[in-house]
Amino acid sequence: MTQEWDEEYDVVVVGSGGGALTGAYLAARAGLDTVVVERTGSLGGTSSYSGGAMWLPGTSVQRRAGVPDSTESARTYLRALLGDSGEAKRETFLAQAPALVERLEEDPALTFAFQVFPDYYERPGRVPGGRSFIPRALDPAELGDALLALVRPPLDRDRAGQGNDPSAPLTAGRALIGRLLLAYHRTGHGTVTTDTVMDELVGTPERVTGIVATRQGRRVRIGARKGVLLAAGGFEHNERLRGVHGVPGRSDCSMAPAGTNLGEPVEAAVALGAATDLMHEGWWCPGVRMPDGQRAFVCGFTGGLVVDANGSRYANESLPYDRFGREIQAAPDRTPSFLVHDFRTRGKLPAVTQPPWGDPAAHLEAGTLVKADTLEELAGLIGVNADRLTETVERFNGFADNGKDEEFGREVDEFGHWFGDPVLHPVREAPYYAARIVLCDLGTKGGLVTDASARVLREDGTPIAGLYAAGNTSASFTGHVYPGPGIPLGTAMVFASLAADDMAG
Ligand SMILES: Cc1cc2nc3c(=O)[nH]c(=O)nc-3n(C[C@H](O)[C@H](O)[C@H](O)COP(=O)(O)OP(=O)(O)OC[C@H]3O[C@@H](n4cnc5c(N)ncnc54)[C@H](O)[C@@H]3O)c2cc1C
Repeated sequence: MTQEWDEEYDVVVVGSGGGALTGAYLAARAGLDTVVVERTGSLGGTSSYSGGAMWLPGTSVQRRAGVPDSTESARTYLRALLGDSGEAKRETFLAQAPALVERLEEDPALTFAFQVFPDYYERPGRVPGGRSFIPRALDPAELGDALLALVRPPLDRDRAGQGNDPSAPLTAGRALIGRLLLAYHRTGHGTVTTDTVMDELVGTPERVTGIVATRQGRRVRIGARKGVLLAAGGFEHNERLRGVHGVPGRSDCSMAPAGTNLGEPVEAAVALGAATDLMHEGWWCPGVRMPDGQRAFVCGFTGGLVVDANGSRYANESLPYDRFGREIQAAPDRTPSFLVHDFRTRGKLPAVTQPPWGDPAAHLEAGTLVKADTLEELAGLIGVNADRLTETVERFNGFADNGKDEEFGREVDEFGHWFGDPVLHPVREAPYYAARIVLCDLGTKGGLVTDASARVLREDGTPIAGLYAAGNTSASFTGHVYPGPGIPLGTAMVFASLAADDMAG
C-alpha cells in the first residue's frame, strides 16, 4: 500500500448492479484484487428489482431451449431498429454475448434458463417468444447468511424496510445479483464495501488511478492499479441533473431503489474531460401511485383503457412499457393519464404492477384509486370531460364487442398477448374505477461515452486510461430505442466484461 492511498486494489468497481458484479467477478476470476464500492447498505441497485431478463443473443442458453435465435437474426433486428447508429458497439455486443455466457456458465454458481418474453418491436429478426433469458432461482442456503444479508431485499420488502426472507428463493434480478456475488466471493480475490459513496476520481485527464469515497463520514482514498469501472447506474434520483439535461418525468417517479443513483460518477468523469451522450434519455414505463406515495411500474394491461386529461384514448395500452412511456411524453395532456376500468376486477388494477397493487380499499382511502357509479361521476372525480370520456368508453366497448381494436390494434402484437390479455373487455358495468397513470422510468440511459472496450472517451474521442463505464453510467448504444427485454442488463454485462478483460490485459 502506498502512502497516497487508504486502500489499494487492482480494480475498483463502483456500483453493484448486474454490470458491476459481472465486471468485478471476471476481474477477480482473472486474479486481480478487486473491490466493489456500493453507496447503500445492500448490493444490486435497480438490477435487483428487475425481472433479471438478459438480452444476450446467439448463446448456448437459447440453443439448449431450442429457440430459433442467432447472432445474425439479432443483428438484423437491431439494424432494423437502430440503422447505422452505434454500430461499432453493437457489433462488439453481438460478437461478445455468446462468449460471455459461455464463460459465466463455466462457473457452477452461474446458470441461466430461457423464459418466453417477446421482443418489443415487430421487425425483421424478431424471434417468436423472444430471445432473452433469466438466471435460475437461487436457494438462499447456497448463498449463506452473510452473503444473503448483502443482497437488496425484494422491492416490496425493501420499501417497507423489511430485510430478506431467509426461506425464500432468490429469483429474477435478485437471483442474478446473488449468483454473481456468490461467484465473485468464491474467486478469493473479491472484496465488497457498502455504505461507501464514490464522489471523486483521482488522476488526470490522461489517466485515472483511483477514487475518493465517503464512508461513515470519512474520506477514503482507494487506489486502482489497473483501473476503475464505473457501473453505478444513471442519475435518475438526481432532480438537479434531470433538470440540467431535460430528462422527462421526476426523480420520485423513478423505479430505482431509494437512495441509489445520483450520478456522481458521471459528474466526476466529466470533470476529467469525459464526453457524454443521450443525457435526456431514459428507460421508460408507465407508473401508478401507491398508497405510500411511491410509484409502481405498470405493464401488461388485462382490462380497462387509458385516457388522457381530455378523456381520449391515445395508444395501445399493451405496448411494451418503454414505448408506452414515450407515448405519455408525446403530449402534455397525457400527464396524468387515467386507467379507467369497471367492476370486473373489483378495484384490483387490471394490469401487472411492481410492487404488487395490493388492497383496493387502501387505494380508495389514499385516493390513488377513485370509484363512481357512473362514467359521468367518474369523469367529475378525475377532472376530465364527461361527454368525451363516455364517448371514448363507448367506442372502446364497440371494439371489445367485435374483438378488434380498430384504433390501436391492442389485440394484435405478441407482446400484448404474452404480458397482457389479448381479449378486449368492455368497460360497461358499475362501479367504475380510475387510477392515475404517470411517466416513470427504470433509470436514465444517457451517460459517459465509451468505446468497444468500455473505455471512457474524452470529447476528442481518445480514451482516459484506467477509466471504464458500463450500464446506465454509460450512454447506451440503443439510443432512443428499447429493443427488447433484458437489453439494459445484457449490454451492461457485456461491456463490464470487456472492461474487466481490458484491465486483466
Ligand atoms: C421493476 C423493474 C424490472 C426490470 N426488469 C428488467 C429486466 O428484466 N431486464 C433488464 O435488462 N432490465 C430490467 N430493468 C431495468 C434494469 O434493472 C436497470 O436498467 C439496470 O439494472 C441498471 O443497471 P445499472 O448497473 O446501471 O444500475 P443499478 O442496478 O441501479 O446499480 C447501480 C448501483 O450503484 C450504486 N451507486 C450509485 N452511485 C454510487 C456512488 N456514487 N458510489 C457507490 N455506489 C453508487 C447504487 O446504489 C446501485 O446499487 C427493470 C427495472 C425495473 C425497475
